Amino acid sequence: MRLTRYFLPVTKETPADAQIISHKLMLRAGLVRQTAAGIYAWLPLGYRVLRKIEQIVREEQDRSGAIELLMPTLQSADLWRESGRYDAYGPEMLRITDRHDREMLYGPTNEEMITAIFRDNARSYRDLPRSLYHIQWKFRDEVRPRFGVMRGREFLMKDAYSFDMDEAGARASYNRMFVAYLNTFARMGLRAIPMQADTGPIGGDLSHEFIILAPSGESDVFYHANWERPADLSSVDFDDAAALQAIVSGHTADYAATDEKRDPAREAEAGEALRQSRGIEVGHIFYFGTKYSGAMGLKLQGPDGAEVVPHMGSYGVGVSRLMGAIIEASHDDKGIIWPDAVAPYAVGIVNMRDNDPACTAAADALYAKLNAAGVETLYDDRSLSGGQKLATMDVIGLPWQIVIGPKGLERGVVELKRRATGETIELAPDEAVARLA
Ligand code: ATP
Ligand code: MG
Ligand code: MG
Ligand code: MG
Repeated sequence: MRLTRYFLPVTKETPADAQIISHKLMLRAGLVRQTAAGIYAWLPLGYRVLRKIEQIVREEQDRSGAIELLMPTLQSADLWRESGRYDAYGPEMLRITDRHDREMLYGPTNEEMITAIFRDNARSYRDLPRSLYHIQWKFRDEVRPRFGVMRGREFLMKDAYSFDMDEAGARASYNRMFVAYLNTFARMGLRAIPMQADTGPIGGDLSHEFIILAPSGESDVFYHANWERPADLSSVDFDDAAALQAIVSGHTADYAATDEKRDPAREAEAGEALRQSRGIEVGHIFYFGTKYSGAMGLKLQGPDGAEVVPHMGSYGVGVSRLMGAIIEASHDDKGIIWPDAVAPYAVGIVNMRDNDPACTAAADALYAKLNAAGVETLYDDRSLSGGQKLATMDVIGLPWQIVIGPKGLERGVVELKRRATGETIELAPDEAVARLA
């Protein structure tokens, strides 16, 4: 993409209500614009990142055996009356009336709808176990939308729902999601710590929030220093229940708890290794038994003819919140530093002298070669000073920059710079293409 043909409104100023660094940088880098309180338009560069985050989430859901579908954003109030949540949900629910005076709502979550779909379409125990997910916009009328997309009112969520014969089956489904989440966040370059979370009236240990440590986070969290090691990917067989349980046990052995779930005994045990921080909730997995299946009459024919009321769980990822969380975790005083996996483009070309025909010819040629090699490239071909172009590249945070100037070209080289480290090497343009391809 040539910047002379793109739509990238980079700015220096940010509004006073942009308090945290990710919010400021998302505005400065032209990723999003607010259109109403807590509601954002995703500008072209931001939308590319959002789709990459979404795609990683999708691939890891698919790998874990979950099945994608798509449910609507608008739901009928009657569905929520079946579970009893229509009145219980409170002012976070955006309620809408259609022209026939039917009560509708913009879905804040989808337990009711998926339970109804499963109830009306699944027949017997052969339809168990199943995990279904979608990636869809949600609306919650947050009392204080803030921190940009981190706490929006309209936001993109991946929500999955599992259906099992019994609690043991539900635990296996839970473990598959747990491991899928570890892999999802690790692929984005994030260390998300699974922290024991509140299970409500159901009790038990099957609720975890996945938390990214960041000073701007809204949760107070306590954890063992062992969590400071980097995250790793596991290539587990998702049909191997024992292997999954071993990973989950391994990742819950070291203490980690949010404010509500602190455990003084385990904190004493951690001793000197106990750490305290703020954290961002990027995912939440939850087993809730037969709460919705029971209330909404979901029953299937069991293997012995007796009816089975499926045990369910739900599993959310804040897809749009993740963009803010990634920036909180990866930036410097010059701007964003995108991890390769979610970067909007892999490399940016900076032509330092657009009025020098040799520079422009070399930049054009390099751009063509990178495109031909399938490297996602943003080419700053505008008539601006080299300094302004470099500053733009730094703020938008592409992982690589190729800087083309007259002095280097005389020696047949360009500069390849790694955004994260600032490390720069000189090499021939074709070598730069070969490295990035
Ligand atoms: P929070 O504690 O931040 O209000 P929550 O516990 O209400 O979140 P869940 O119902 O667990 O949220 O939803 C699943 C995921 O959706 C959360 O883990 C979070 O990543 C994301 N999410 C929730 N609310 C918002 C929001 N207002 N804006 C952006 N993402 C959100
Ligand atoms: Mg909330
Ligand atoms: Mg929460
Ligand atoms: Mg939650």
